Amino acid sequence: MNTSTPRETSFAQPGCTVWPDVATLREELDGLTPGQKKSFPGFSPFSLPLTALHGAQPGRKLLLTAGVHGCEYCSILAAMELARELDPAMLHGSIIIAPVANPSGFYDRLPALVAEDGKNLNRVFPGSEDGSYSEKLALLVTGLQDWADFYVDMHGGDLHESMHPFVYVPGVASAEVTDFARQAACCLDVDVRVLSSATTGAYNSAAIRGTPSLLIERGGNGRWSRAEVDAYKKDILALLHFLQILPGDTARTQMQRECATVIYLDSEVRGLWFPAEGIEPGRAVTQGQVLGEVRDFTNTVVQHCTARLNGMVLYMTVSLAVKEGTPLVAYG
Ligand SMILES: [Zn+2]
Repeated sequence: MNTSTPRETSFAQPGCTVWPDVATLREELDGLTPGQKKSFPGFSPFSLPLTALHGAQPGRKLLLTAGVHGCEYCSILAAMELARELDPAMLHGSIIIAPVANPSGFYDRLPALVAEDGKNLNRVFPGSEDGSYSEKLALLVTGLQDWADFYVDMHGGDLHESMHPFVYVPGVASAEVTDFARQAACCLDVDVRVLSSATTGAYNSAAIRGTPSLLIERGGNGRWSRAEVDAYKKDILALLHFLQILPGDTARTQMQRECATVIYLDSEVRGLWFPAEGIEPGRAVTQGQVLGEVRDFTNTVVQHCTARLNGMVLYMTVSLAVKEGTPLVAYG
């Protein structure tokens, strides 16, 4: 990657650039000339950092978002570094990268939520002009999804979550959209892809509207490492090859299992969470195996958790505190 001749143009300081609506933003991005890259440090009213790369050659348009959940740091750093390192002179097509789609959640270190209204941005898509802050922000991202030929939402384990790397493929979409997303997922260096039956979520919303999409999960525990950020970047570069935005071949790196049934075990009460010994992301579980217990402050077990089917732990909560209705373990 050529990083020696940056083509970035810095615009106004955060909060000083006025973007009245999605159409204006798209117009601005469409106005870039071939081989040009522009970085916006944070445009109003959302202070959204954003980099647009217009490839020297025509090709597909890709939207990458990270930080929809503001504490998923591996994804945020990978997106930031890709925005800096990708050279538009090498690209066939265009890329928009929004490395922190939820800036207030990032700065406030809020697991999953947007600070302005306390909503989970990933649950309000496609958004609404008349809605609260999160819904307006979602509407802006929807406008960019509709611009794109492919959309990737980069996630990971939150502050309180430990994660096995995997990818979600939208299962509620046209067969053509799901098939193309599945082919793209196969080029990632993860051994599990989950076929999602959900309709909420930024990537599901994009797929339902006709833009093939993926949600990648990598990293967690409110931490990041060089190895995990590099692994994330390697996945996105493999995807760029698959989409032919970057020349070169995609080599499938490992066999992938498609998982259509994932059990999302939630806490029934608020209390203290004690995972059973050996319950870890990436480890197999068998039907009937004890996954853990939720206890109250008298140390009384208030929820006893066992596996309903054979599978593998995809992610789990590692915090001691759990609230009613929040995830404890996801496996499948
Ligand atoms: Zn997330």
